[in-house]
Amino acid sequence: MNKVDHIGIAVQSIEAILPFYTEQLGLKCMAIEEVAAQQVRVAFIDAHNVKIELLEPLRNAGPIAAFLEKRGEGIHHIAFGVRSIQERINDLKEKGIRMIDESPRRGAGGALVAFMHPKSAHGVLYELCEKEEQGEK
Ligand code: ZN
Repeated sequence: MNKVDHIGIAVQSIEAILPFYTEQLGLKCMAIEEVAAQQVRVAFIDAHNVKIELLEPLRNAGPIAAFLEKRGEGIHHIAFGVRSIQERINDLKEKGIRMIDESPRRGAGGALVAFMHPKSAHGVLYELCEKEEQGEK
C-alpha cells in the first residue's frame, strides 16, 4: 500500500455540507462530479496531505443511500493509493482477504478502485485506488 489517498465520508447533501469544509475549516473544494455507476455525487476536498471525499447518494439509491439509512452521516471508507491494482487484489486474496471487488472498477476522477470486505478488515471498509498519474511514483 502507498499512502492514504483519501477518506470517504457519506453525506446527505454536498451542497449543505460544503460550507463546513470550505468556510469553517478553510479547505478547498477541488472538484465535484457524478459517478453514475456507483449512484453517487462526489466532492473532493483538499486537506493537503490527504483528500476528503464527500459522497452523496443520487436519487436516494445505491450503497451510500443504504449506508446513510443504516448509520447516518459519517466516515464511510479509507482509501489507500496503490499501483498495479489488479496485482494488489490478487495478492490480498492470496493472503486470505475477501474482496468486494475482485476486479477494479471506475471510480471518481477516472481512478480504478476496489473495496476490501470489511469482515476481512476488522470492521473498516478499505478501498484500493489507482490513479493514472501515480504511475511514476
Ligand atoms: Zn473513495
